[in-house]
Amino acid sequence: MIPDALPHKVQATHLARTAYLYVRQSTLRQVLEHTESTQRQYALRQRAIALGWPAERIVTIDSDLGQSGASAADRTGFQRLVTEVSLGRAGIVLGLEVSRLARNSTDWHRLLEICALTATLILDEDGVYDPAHFNDRLLLGLKGTMSEAELHVLRARLQGGIRNKARRGELVITPPIGLAYSATGPLGLDPDSQVQAALRLVFATFRRTGSATAVVKAFRRQGLLFPRRVHAGPRQGELIWAALGHSQVLRLLHNPRYAGAFVYGRTRTRKTLEGRTTIVPVPAAEWDTVIRDAHAGYLAWEEYEDNQRRLHASAQAMGADRRQSPPREGPALLQGLVVCGRCGERMTVRYHSRHGRQWPEYVCQRGGVERGTPPCQRVPGAGIDAAVGEVLVATVSPVALEVALRVQAELQARLDEADRLRDQQVARAQYEADLARRRYLQVDPANRFVADALEADWNHQLQLLSDAQQARERQREQDRQVLSAEQRAAILALVTDFPRLWRDPQTPDRDRKRMVRLLLEDVTIVRDPGITLHLRFKGGATHTLTLPLPGNAWQQRTTDPAVVQAIDQLLAHHTYPEIAAELNARGMRSGNRQAFTVRIVARIQDHYRLLPRYDRLRQAGLLTGEEMATLLGICPSQVKVWRQHGLVRGQAYTAKPDWLYEHPGDHPPRKAQGVKLSQRRLIPEVLPEPTEEVQCEA
Ligand SMILES: [Zn+2]
Repeated sequence: MIPDALPHKVQATHLARTAYLYVRQSTLRQVLEHTESTQRQYALRQRAIALGWPAERIVTIDSDLGQSGASAADRTGFQRLVTEVSLGRAGIVLGLEVSRLARNSTDWHRLLEICALTATLILDEDGVYDPAHFNDRLLLGLKGTMSEAELHVLRARLQGGIRNKARRGELVITPPIGLAYSATGPLGLDPDSQVQAALRLVFATFRRTGSATAVVKAFRRQGLLFPRRVHAGPRQGELIWAALGHSQVLRLLHNPRYAGAFVYGRTRTRKTLEGRTTIVPVPAAEWDTVIRDAHAGYLAWEEYEDNQRRLHASAQAMGADRRQSPPREGPALLQGLVVCGRCGERMTVRYHSRHGRQWPEYVCQRGGVERGTPPCQRVPGAGIDAAVGEVLVATVSPVALEVALRVQAELQARLDEADRLRDQQVARAQYEADLARRRYLQVDPANRFVADALEADWNHQLQLLSDAQQARERQREQDRQVLSAEQRAAILALVTDFPRLWRDPQTPDRDRKRMVRLLLEDVTIVRDPGITLHLRFKGGATHTLTLPLPGNAWQQRTTDPAVVQAIDQLLAHHTYPEIAAELNARGMRSGNRQAFTVRIVARIQDHYRLLPRYDRLRQAGLLTGEEMATLLGICPSQVKVWRQHGLVRGQAYTAKPDWLYEHPGDHPPRKAQGVKLSQRRLIPEVLPEPTEEVQCEA
């Protein structure tokens, strides 16, 4: 035991200050299970009392309970301790195995230094230390180093064990949805056939379409849900079915375990400067362990690799990060600067190829990509780019001029100031010269020596005056030259260069985009019913302009309201191809006197915001194939067969066709019926119209 052996270390100055008892348990489990060591820590309190601290001045800091101690950044308790010590409020710091106060050596040595500076003592179970004494500090430093080393060895052993197990493929890692450990041990496909079917559909749809978005859309169109297993909490192990998201599809496609491979080391944890840990993905070539065909999977390794290539290629087209991004090739001027005025998301750019040119279109599709819903709004880009360009040319010149003039005014003010000073010098010389003249005139001319001296002085003063006046004139002339030669040229350059550069057809799109980025913070677009643009300049100035909807070929002449009305009515009962055929049969024509095509009908529907057929049918109470299947107790593919045989009535909402089903009523057809009805098609099948779009990041 300590106290009396080292009485000289504890002084009255220490006792006058507060004692801090620092209690730390790193995990909640430790808090729950190691109450014994907590009791030891609280027992230190008794020692402090024995050393002479009154009980009410022993403060316990235990706010770090339940937090890991690897760095001070996340631990408010440790930081509070350091603060108290550095303010000189602590007389002594108490801790069980004090070196564990700070699990990392840097934190610990910093605390020791501060203790030494503020004459704060340290007490652990082994004794009292004064960090101001070299020997004590050495010992404490060693304790800290040992503690960190111990931690390192422990961790290394743990990691080594994990890695060895992983290299043998024996490490148990929570499998992703669709894979499960069987009762007898090995990992395999989830025994739940519905889960298996959901995963198979994801991979099959991607195989067919090569697009994660298409997978999301397919699930949404068919009203299918995707499973997720709960890994923690009271519902642990349960399956939850929810809509499939775009990012989820990407995770599934990127996960090599679905190809039956055991993989370890796909991510790495890294410390940030603030002491937080982040998880960063590791490139496939650097994965620690890859064991192919380790267990059953949903696709072959070759297909998995092929999927990675396809995803990589489309990611290149889309751009990895779609937040404000560096300018790329492509004519869309506002790429990366456009904000959707309806939902606040950043809008992306799509390019449509027409007549050998790339036409930009700004699309708000962030939510749409993730949930497979139609875009929030889409706006043709060409007109917008031109209008913004004109605004910049018109706005930038006066702005630049104003800045330049302000610079000029500033320079002029400084020159005027100098000129006034020189004026004062001239006035002073004038005064001295006058004085010298008066002295000379007052002197007795008989006193020649004095008179000569005064005359010489007068002459000298006159010379000084003349010098001062000349210097002032010279400087004024020079100042004017500085202004005219350099400043004026700069001003003119500022005003003329921007419009010239902007309009020059030799200026590449990329440079024009750079100029826009120098000038504009962002552009908010609302399309309702025209296009309203809110330009926000760097520095806070704003400018709003409204444009009519620009002239796409089909839009140049406005669509006849009767056509819009007809489409609105026809949408209730017909798909696009049927509507186009019907309008043509009625002799109606599009805005620019063309016969209707599926594309024109679709664009009119989108442009005039007519409720899509799918939504109409759903509002009318029609069921998705999935819902129908649940209702009838059969599988979705059977619903389609039943519809073909007229057992259930469906209505097509796309030209593919995709179907929604009418509620079968009180007497639904039953599985056991098994009566073959004549093959009667209720709705004619029509082919969908192919669309081709290049996507690009905005
Ligand atoms: Zn939006």
